[in-house]
Amino acid sequence: MRPGFAGENSALSRAAASLIVVIMSVSGSIVCSICEKPEAECLCVRYCCICTGLDGVRLCADGLYYCPACRDACEVKLAESRGT
Ligand SMILES: [Zn+2]
Ligand SMILES: [Zn+2]
Repeated sequence: MRPGFAGENSALSRAAASLIVVIMSVSGSIVCSICEKPEAECLCVRYCCICTGLDGVRLCADGLYYCPACRDACEVKLAESRGT
């Protein structure tokens, strides 16, 4: 057994693992279709893309903002609720 080799190997897999986390968080997060930023960083005027209402508007899975009523009607998911 060569301890040095094992150490290098685990450092490499740690780097690979953190890279995978970065890729997954980028591809898994839905961004505003206008500014391409996540909802938390988006500074756009947020209004519902259907009725232009402002109440309870949230970023949804397609990168557009919807109010709760139109979100229900169009059956779009919230950007944050992944896999549920
Ligand atoms: Zn935006
Ligand atoms: Zn609406």
